[in-house]
Amino acid sequence: MTANLLDFDLEGLAAYCASLGEKRFRATQLFRWIHQKGARDFSQMTDLAKSLRDKLQGAAHITGLPVLTQHESADGTIKWLFDVGNGDAVEAVFIPEDDRGTLCISSQAGCAVGCRFCSTGHQGFSRNLTTGEILAQLWFAEHFLRAHLKTNGERVISNVVMMGMGEPLQNYSALVPALRVMLDDHGYGLSRRRVTVSTSGVVPMMDRLGEDVPVALAVSLHAPNDELRDKLVPLNKKYPLAELLDACNRYLAHAPRDFITFEYCMLDGVNDQPEHARQLVELVRHHGGQGVSCKLNLIPFNPFPASGLVRSPQQQVQAFAKILSDAGIVTTVRKTRGDDIDAACGQLAGDVKDRTRVGTRIAQQRTVMLKPLPVEAAPKEARGT
Ligand code: SAH
Ligand code: SF4
Repeated sequence: MTANLLDFDLEGLAAYCASLGEKRFRATQLFRWIHQKGARDFSQMTDLAKSLRDKLQGAAHITGLPVLTQHESADGTIKWLFDVGNGDAVEAVFIPEDDRGTLCISSQAGCAVGCRFCSTGHQGFSRNLTTGEILAQLWFAEHFLRAHLKTNGERVISNVVMMGMGEPLQNYSALVPALRVMLDDHGYGLSRRRVTVSTSGVVPMMDRLGEDVPVALAVSLHAPNDELRDKLVPLNKKYPLAELLDACNRYLAHAPRDFITFEYCMLDGVNDQPEHARQLVELVRHHGGQGVSCKLNLIPFNPFPASGLVRSPQQQVQAFAKILSDAGIVTTVRKTRGDDIDAACGQLAGDVKDRTRVGTRIAQQRTVMLKPLPVEAAPKEARGT
């Protein structure tokens, strides 16, 4: 079987090159061609010896994921649906802002955690993505966007958040090399502060991440007590709040930022009452004596019919945010972006599994439906020209 070079971090690629009798600096060149220039064809790599290119031609390939659909929102948000085979698909979303370009990517097809309010959770778990499949989302998006936005080869994506489909810390062995490529100066060169892993609270893996690749961490809290969190995030039964917050404090010793971002999805009448806000203040202020250094990010719930849940009214969100802010906790309310293309958090699976419904849903959306891009039809930029 030939190797897909998107599966390797630089160390892995160096080991692979060594197995072909090639020196390490060749691996670095190859790595830069792939990730910095978006090359997918060895013949483009003009500074590699012809003999090496021929050798690679027979032994390896650089293969991304086929793009099933692409939607561009009026606000510039772009969502892609990638085919991962066997009827499964995953999504990635690009969110442009004045001072940054954020790509939200997926780590699994489906998710085994099964949170009540999450459409990915409702789908169940299909499989882990490989390192190459995680990176293919970034690799494709970066090089597509350079051409699409005509940046003259300038980098577009400055931030990556693992907030698409799946629980990244339940796919740890594929996640870590992918993160390393994002951070590598010969890869995407992103700073550790600008790569965020979001987790529902897989405590042992939070510790390992802190040791292995301490990037920014977001923890999906959603409830201020175990009784409620057990219902919303079933993983809480295994790793309850006290253990989770202890793990957050341990992570802070390694983290690139001096706070953890807590995500809190606002569900009408479920977790959005003033009493919940007060409990939350108590929890993050006083847990274990010293509390947890954190920021709170309140997310408007994106409803989907099977959830049986409703988005909190804006007033309720504001009142909740005020209690937190008044207690000195930095609190933001997430802007909803790409609403017209269902690109917001937790919507990223709604139209994936049941592919037969995709057409109907798309027809209902006020979106531009760009031509689906097969992987082969790389934009010029992505061919490294
Ligand atoms: N599994 C990880 C990362 C993917 S989910 C995690 O749970 O953190 C990314 C974020 O979207 C999480 O904070 C999650 O709680 C939130 N989310 C999921 N479904 C949502 C929905 N329907 N509306 C709003 N946010 C949602
Ligand atoms: Fe999985 Fe995260 Fe969705 Fe929970 S919120 S089901 S952990 S993807």
